Amino acid sequence: MAKKTTEQRICSFCGRPESQAAMMFAGMGGSSICDSCVEQAYGILHEKMHKPQAAGNPLAQLTEIPTPAEIKKHLDQYVIGQEDAKRALSVAVYNHYKRIKYSDGEHGADDVEIEKSNIIIVGETGTGKTLLARTIARVLDVPFCIADATTLTEAGYVGDDVENVLVRLLQAADYNVAAAERGIVFIDEIDKIARKSDNPSITRDVSGEGVQQAMLKLLEGAVVNVPPQGGRKHPEQPMIQVNTRNILFIAGGAFDGIERAIASRLKSNVIGYNGTTTRRELDRHNMLKYILPMDLKHFGLIPELVGRFPMLTHLQPLDADALHRILTEPRNALVKQYQALFKMDGIELVFDPEALQAVVDTAVHYKLGARGLRSIMESIMTDYMFDLPHMQKGSELHITGQMAHDKINNANINISLLQ
Ligand code: ADP
Repeated sequence: MAKKTTEQRICSFCGRPESQAAMMFAGMGGSSICDSCVEQAYGILHEKMHKPQAAGNPLAQLTEIPTPAEIKKHLDQYVIGQEDAKRALSVAVYNHYKRIKYSDGEHGADDVEIEKSNIIIVGETGTGKTLLARTIARVLDVPFCIADATTLTEAGYVGDDVENVLVRLLQAADYNVAAAERGIVFIDEIDKIARKSDNPSITRDVSGEGVQQAMLKLLEGAVVNVPPQGGRKHPEQPMIQVNTRNILFIAGGAFDGIERAIASRLKSNVIGYNGTTTRRELDRHNMLKYILPMDLKHFGLIPELVGRFPMLTHLQPLDADALHRILTEPRNALVKQYQALFKMDGIELVFDPEALQAVVDTAVHYKLGARGLRSIMESIMTDYMFDLPHMQKGSELHITGQMAHDKINNANINISLLQ
């Protein structure tokens, strides 16, 4: 019996005897490792290798800030067109991170305090606001979250407290507070919390002005107590303190109808900050490009809120040409995605130009924008994907204009429901 014990292998890591381990692996020179140590080691390795770097060491990420040109080049790979917005965002983000990097005083420019450059992007729904913010976060490799302004309410009312925006950022940062404090928050549908009228209200406006007021604190930079699991604050719940000073806020909104306000302002010839543009030069199809902060105030954002978004930029509506490019050009363009899916089954997928045109025409016809492209493509491809595993490996599937039209026509009822 005693002999058996001496023969028993012992895990060289935790000292567990073989009899207590489910499995023991033998190594060189009589060393061994038990199953539970292997599992633990794998866990540590996995965590180290797959943890987003930003969450691990946010400061290290900021040692090499990409230049505006580099940021824009990256955006170009994913976002089609929208040149003005891409340039504005690249500069704003570059300045923002430069500001953080040099705020330690070491390289401070004569103690000039550079203010935060939160950004508002105005543009129709589906033109790429979220995509831009998300892609920016990816370039910088920082935690990123999306918050929907419509779900927010002032503290004490039914809905999400404004602080809950930061809960999502903390989650995105794996609860690494330092990383979260340098993250990017995209606030969607900021236009939906506009005051209903341009005049300050006498009664309290729970969904509009109150939320805007509550948001000011987050935007300007403050230490905010955040309930780690979200939800309402209550005394027993421990809070995490998050400083929003270096969090970049990007807000997006469609601001439906704001073009009219811009047009009427332009009619009174107050154009640009210096009033130099003449009426003749106006691009009537894209009034958004003349947007100024005063238009946002007119729409119902309180001046203090507008003031905390020093950068204002716009997106252009997507025309047929842009939709066509979105279908084929971005790094993860839909056409490329389908081709990759087919390739996995050994089939080469080819789209005739007429087939792609049919997709674009349908999106334009039903006013579905870029978001609709995917459902239209699905309506064409679903049947083929169903048969995909049975297709002859090494063959080619050619989607012609006629095939695309037939599938779209069959699915037309569903597509029209998307409107
Ligand atoms: P928004 O936030 O403006 O409502 P999104 O950014 O969510 O719109 O865009 C919806 C989808 O449409 C994106 O996921 C993307 O696939 C596509 N898309 C929209 N605009 C563009 C663009 N300019 N370039 C590439 N893809 C775009």
